[in-house]
Amino acid sequence: MANDTRRSGSCLCGGIQFSVTGDPYRVGLCHCKDCRKASGSTFSAFAVWPLEAFETAGIVSTYGDRSFCPTCGGRVPLVRENEVEVTIGSLDEVPTEGLEPSYELWVNRREHWLQPLPGARQFEHDRVDDGAKNDGLTADLISEGAETQSSNLPRRKSA
Ligand SMILES: [Zn+2]
Ligand SMILES: [Zn+2]
Repeated sequence: MANDTRRSGSCLCGGIQFSVTGDPYRVGLCHCKDCRKASGSTFSAFAVWPLEAFETAGIVSTYGDRSFCPTCGGRVPLVRENEVEVTIGSLDEVPTEGLEPSYELWVNRREHWLQPLPGARQFEHDRVDDGAKNDGLTADLISEGAETQSSNLPRRKSA
């Protein structure tokens, strides 16, 4: 079943426009230092699509692993060799549908006033590609000290 949902996005000033089509490979949330500094926010939420799903127009600047508009500074998709990473906030539809993060990175840096996303895999550092499917299972990859009772509950299934 091919999903041909097309999502449009842009930078703050509109100088860069882009779109992604279909389902992303994965959707995540990152609390790492780079994501904080680059966004100015306390974490970044992003989705990764195959490169062929991506179209764009406009002039893009890059710094390290980030792409942004040279006029307004708004984050725009980072193009890698085979995939493109889209910050969810740069998409036009608000709130987005079908783009809930299934994993969180660098959770030790998560602000104390934020909670772990229910059902999202928790990684202490970068994502470990261990072949596990992002099916919403709560893998206890890290021990959180005072553990909640959630680890005693049956694993939750999600669609
Ligand atoms: Zn702009
Ligand atoms: Zn990060």
